[in-house]
Amino acid sequence: MPLHIISHPLGAHVLTHLRDQTTKPALFRTLSYQISLLLALEATRDLGTVEKTIETPMESTLGHVLAKALVVVPILRAGLGMMQPFLDVFPDVSVGYVGLERDHETAIARSYYCKLPPVENKRVVVVDPMLATGGSAVQAVNVVKSAGAREIVFICIVASPEGAAAMQKNHPEISIHAGALDRELNHRKYILPGLGDFGDRLYGT
Ligand code: URA
Repeated sequence: MPLHIISHPLGAHVLTHLRDQTTKPALFRTLSYQISLLLALEATRDLGTVEKTIETPMESTLGHVLAKALVVVPILRAGLGMMQPFLDVFPDVSVGYVGLERDHETAIARSYYCKLPPVENKRVVVVDPMLATGGSAVQAVNVVKSAGAREIVFICIVASPEGAAAMQKNHPEISIHAGALDRELNHRKYILPGLGDFGDRLYGT
């Protein structure tokens, strides 16, 4: 299964503080930024480059620049907490939004918004912090595929075995980069040990 877990010790450190229920929203947002930056770098490790000759103050030299533009697609609303590192680090990035809302009783995702930039010939990174049942992730990837995306990566902070299996079943070619693969879902489809409701902790709701 193309599921990659962050191996950098900073990933484990940040995730532990995210899991801690005493972590307040302001710190939670900072930690989300930090782990999302690590995931953004992992999800783009294999991006192609092209040669570019430039002049340093000393002489001419051959360098390399990114060959492909990036599209980051946060699944609303929690995915917004993982978007900023992409905007800060990548020079040529556009943003698409897929709004999927999880019914708290049934845990089934309902689509309420979709706005995507052109995605053909771009690396599309779909971001959602919690890969729980996989319903939202599978649906969001369906949406970006329908829009013409061919090169898609999914990143999340915590994955469940059920969510990873759903992605594997529906989109076996898509690599997933996660901060951790947790134990299981509870009866309300929350991840255990997890970190609770990501959106609520991010926005203090
Ligand atoms: N969404 C969350 O915010 N947390 C979970 O554990 C599962 C889905």
